[in-house]
Amino acid sequence: MTRITEHLEDLKNRISAAALVAGRDPALIQILAVSKKHPLPAVRKAAAAGITRFGENYVQEALIKIREAGKQLEWHFIGTIQSNKTRAIAENFDWVQTISDQSIAERLNRQRPQKAPELQVCIQVQLDDAGTHSGVDADEVPALAESIGRLPRLRLRGLMGMPMPAERIDEQRIPFQRLRMVWEDLQARGYPVDTLSMGMSNDLEAAIREGTTMLRIGTAIFGPRDQQAAE
Ligand SMILES: *Cc1c(COP(=O)(O)O)cnc(C)c1O
Repeated sequence: MTRITEHLEDLKNRISAAALVAGRDPALIQILAVSKKHPLPAVRKAAAAGITRFGENYVQEALIKIREAGKQLEWHFIGTIQSNKTRAIAENFDWVQTISDQSIAERLNRQRPQKAPELQVCIQVQLDDAGTHSGVDADEVPALAESIGRLPRLRLRGLMGMPMPAERIDEQRIPFQRLRMVWEDLQARGYPVDTLSMGMSNDLEAAIREGTTMLRIGTAIFGPRDQQAAE
């Protein structure tokens, strides 16, 4: 946890260097700090260093941090959604990036408190043929987008994807390019989606080349998760 400020400096340098190569403005690439399995002080430290968006995978763990670290931060749910957790998610998070099912979207819509703003959502797209991660197939995205469009308490912001790890940047770029094409297809269909959530600590350069608008970064900010948990 001690090195979070330095890690963030290094991360911003990596993002700037990759944006330069891609001919992109680094200011348009957002950082979501993935704080799963890291304690509340790590969130506070990242927030003090200027991070405003945090991603969490586990509801119980997240609720404590959301309560303690304050509502002025933006909280994104990026884990697998179990139907018995939708109420807690709808009541406590600002964004949900892992929608891959119409019935889950309907539950979140029903359970989103009326006084809260619309829940900002991304559809998670399956990017590996092995099916290791959840998500819908690319060809099912338009139908799910249409269903979400009918839910008044949800606002579709874009797509999220998580490919299988690959070593080389040219391999890493292939699934990201596929995701970007699905995203551009949604835009061509008239959906005002502005978020392409792709790229993690090990493949952020490839994601920047392929047009990511939001990197989800855990290890490169907070360090290895197991070591943290043992502290
Ligand atoms: C854990 C996680 C990340 C962050 O991964 P790092 O490799 O630690 O940067 C990003 N996205 C999702 C969905 C995750 O579960």
